[in-house]
Amino acid sequence: MKPISKLQAVIECKCPRCRKGPMFSGSAYSFKGQVTNEYCAHCNLRFEREPGFFYVAMFISYAMNVAEMIAISVAAYVLGVALTYENLWVYVTIIIAGVFVFAPINYRYSRVFLLHWLTPGLGFIPALWEKQTVKP
Ligand SMILES: [Zn+2]
Repeated sequence: MKPISKLQAVIECKCPRCRKGPMFSGSAYSFKGQVTNEYCAHCNLRFEREPGFFYVAMFISYAMNVAEMIAISVAAYVLGVALTYENLWVYVTIIIAGVFVFAPINYRYSRVFLLHWLTPGLGFIPALWEKQTVKP
C-alpha cells in the first residue's frame, strides 16, 4: 500500500515519522478535550522531542491567530458590516468569538506544523509505514 502524502498526514494529524499513528486523542471539539499523545502508537516516536518542546507551538498558534483575526475582519467587512466607529464593538465581538471558535484548531495544528515542518531531522521513514505496529 502506498503511504499517504505529507499534506494528508498534516491534515489528518498523523505522526511525522510513520504517517500512521495519530498525534491526538479525542476530536478537537469534544467535551472531554483533546490530548496530545505522548508516544506514536505505531512507531513509538515521542512527540514532545525535549522538555518544553511545545512552547514553540505557542508562537505558531499566535501567528495563526493573527491571520484568523485579519481574515475574520475582512470577511465581516465583505459581508456588509460597515467600517465605522459605531461598529467597532461589532468587529471586536466577532473577532473575539472567532478566536474562541478557532482555539482548538490552533492548538492542534500549531503542534502538527511544528512537528511536520519546523523540526529538523524528523522526517518520514517509508519503512515504518509498511512495518507492523511497534509495541513499547
Ligand atoms: Zn509514528
